[in-house]
Amino acid sequence: MDWGLYASVVFGSVVSGIAILWIVAGYYHVRYYVRRRHEPETWKLQPKRMPTAKQQKKAMALSTFNLAVGGLITGHLVFFIMQGGRTPIYFEVSDYGWAWTILGLPVLFFLVDGAAYYVHRLFHTKPLYVRFHKTHHRWASPTPWVVVAVHPVEFLALQAATFIPMMVLPFHYLAVIAVFVYVLVFNIIDHSGVRLRSMWPWQGPSQYHDDHHVHFHVNFGQHLQLFDRLHGTLRREKRTYGADTFGGKGKPEDDETAPPPFVRY
Ligand SMILES: [Zn+2]
Ligand SMILES: [Zn+2]
Repeated sequence: MDWGLYASVVFGSVVSGIAILWIVAGYYHVRYYVRRRHEPETWKLQPKRMPTAKQQKKAMALSTFNLAVGGLITGHLVFFIMQGGRTPIYFEVSDYGWAWTILGLPVLFFLVDGAAYYVHRLFHTKPLYVRFHKTHHRWASPTPWVVVAVHPVEFLALQAATFIPMMVLPFHYLAVIAVFVYVLVFNIIDHSGVRLRSMWPWQGPSQYHDDHHVHFHVNFGQHLQLFDRLHGTLRREKRTYGADTFGGKGKPEDDETAPPPFVRY
């Protein structure tokens, strides 16, 4: 066994996840939470809730820890593949042709996003929420550092679920890297607490996930709002949500005859 290669692959994998966190989250942190700290009403989604230094440090530590664990696992998987271990992931476009190689990118994104929705929704059932997912919801006003500040058990469950599509269908390795970098970067942006809109039509504004932290059991989607619309768990106007209102659909008003419209994001 090539121990030098093993060490550099595992180390590289751990460092790259943490580097993305610190570069992207660090950028939003300095730009808004440091430089424009005195005027939160101009940029912050929840201007009255400014996280304390202690809350920020806790989020930084937990997100960094989880990405290190995730990087360790991913590094071992990459090394396994490099040693000739068989997975459906392929390296030569000619193996499946250009059409599938290009189409594979949105297909993988869609499947990973769906997996994230259902795992997240599962963690909002009362027993799993109380035992594990409550950790993430301690940050009612998220910041970029909160991105993977979750209970390690939940992080592992999420990582396992998002790996399933790649173990079932063949995807080009660059599509796999692109999807996972995208997911991490946009999850940081979605947790930024900063009022931001995306240039991509499928990617909702940061308020979509920020509202999840404000209202708890609603808006379970990661990037696409499709799964929330499909299952009626997107936030609706006039419904009441809160830490104790489980189910993702809120508490209806007494005189409600039909479900009120979804909030427009
Ligand atoms: Zn949640
Ligand atoms: Zn969150």
